[in-house]
Amino acid sequence: MATNRRDFLKLATYLGAATVATYYSNDIRRVFSQTAQQNGGKIHIIWLQLASDTGCTISMLQGSNPNLIGAVQELSLSADYWQTLMTQDYDLGWVTAGYTTEDKSQVPLMNAAFGNAPVDVLVVEGSPQLGAPKGGSEGDFCRIGQYNGTDVTGLDLMLKLSAKASYVIAIGQCSSFGGIPSANGNLTGATSVTSALSKKGVTTMHPVINLAGCPAHPDWTLITLASVLQGFTPDLDEQGRPKAFFSSYIHENCPRRGAYDRGQLATTFDDPVGCYWNLGCKGPITLSSCAQTKWDGGVSFCTQGGPMCWGCMHPSFPDAPSSPFFRPAAISPEFLGLTADNFAEILLVGGVAALGVHAARHVLTGKEETGEEENVTADASAQQQKKEVPAN
Ligand code: SF4
Repeated sequence: MATNRRDFLKLATYLGAATVATYYSNDIRRVFSQTAQQNGGKIHIIWLQLASDTGCTISMLQGSNPNLIGAVQELSLSADYWQTLMTQDYDLGWVTAGYTTEDKSQVPLMNAAFGNAPVDVLVVEGSPQLGAPKGGSEGDFCRIGQYNGTDVTGLDLMLKLSAKASYVIAIGQCSSFGGIPSANGNLTGATSVTSALSKKGVTTMHPVINLAGCPAHPDWTLITLASVLQGFTPDLDEQGRPKAFFSSYIHENCPRRGAYDRGQLATTFDDPVGCYWNLGCKGPITLSSCAQTKWDGGVSFCTQGGPMCWGCMHPSFPDAPSSPFFRPAAISPEFLGLTADNFAEILLVGGVAALGVHAARHVLTGKEETGEEENVTADASAQQQKKEVPAN
C-alpha cells in the first residue's frame, strides 16, 4: 500500500478529512474493494447508540470537511444500522428468514449481533450501562428492540458486536470514558466501552479506538474510519486515543496563550483577548487538537470564540478536574514546574494565573514548560479515579 500510517494521520490532522480522503482515495477505495469482495460486495458499519444525547451523530451531520454525504461518496461509507438517522420502516432488503424483531429497521442490527451478517466496523456512541434497575437485570436501563421475541439490551448488543467487529470505535466522551452518564451520582452503571468489555471479559480483534469529546469532532471520526478501512489502527495513547488528535494541550495552541503568558486575564467571557484561566478554562489540562483543526468547518473553537475550554475531552469530564466548571483547575505545583514554597509565594502575591505560570516556570527553572508528561499522568490518574459501577 502506498500510504504510510504515520504520514496518513499526520496529514489528516492538518489537512482535514476531505483533503486526505481525496489524496488517499485510490488506496482507500482499493482497501474497500478488497474488504467488500471478501464480504459479498458490502462494507458493513454498525453505528450503535447507547446512553447519550445523540450529540455525536449531530456533530457528524454538521461536519463539513467533508459533510456526511461527501463522506459517503469519498470514503464509500455504508452504515447498515444507524438508529438515530433511520426511520422505523427502513429496510435494506436483506432480511434473514427466521429472525423476528418489532422494528424492521433493527433487522440488520439483530442479524449482525446474533446472525451471520459480518461487521467490519462497530461505532459505539454513548455509554454501555452495566447496572440493573430495581427488579430488573444487568443492562436493563437500555433495551433496544427484540430478537426472537425477547428484549435485547444495548449492553448485550455492544458486547456481541464488539467481539465480532474487525474494529471498534468509541465515538465521543460517553463511550470513550463514560462521560455525563457516568458522572458522580451515576445510578445506571454507565461506563466506557473499554471498561464494560474488560468487566465482561470480552476481547476485540484490535484495540478500541477512543475518539473523546462532547461531541467527537466529525473530521477525526471520518479520518479514523478512513484509517481503519485502510486496515490499520492509528497510533493510540495510553487512553486509547489517536495520538494524531490528542497529543498536545489546547493551551499550547490557544490564540489567548499570549495573554495567559502576560498575565492578561479575562474577568468576563466577552473579553475578546484575555485568557480565560481565572474563569475556569481547562485548556491547560486537556489534550486535543481543537485549536488546529477547529470546529464548524474550521471556523473557530471554544477558547477562540468564547467561552472557555470545558475540558470535555479530559477522561474525567464532567467530574473533577474538569469541574467545577467556573473555577481554575486544581493543579499541583509540580505540574507547573514549581516547588511547593514557590507556589505558595505566588499564590500570596496575587495568584498563579496573575503571574503567568509559564513565565513563572521560566524564571524559576530556566526551562520552557511542556507539561505533557505531568499532564498525561494527571489524565491517567483521573481515569483510574473514574467511578466504579455501583453494585446492584
Ligand atoms: Fe487559552 Fe484557556 Fe490556556 Fe487561557 S487557559 S491560554 S484561554 S487554553
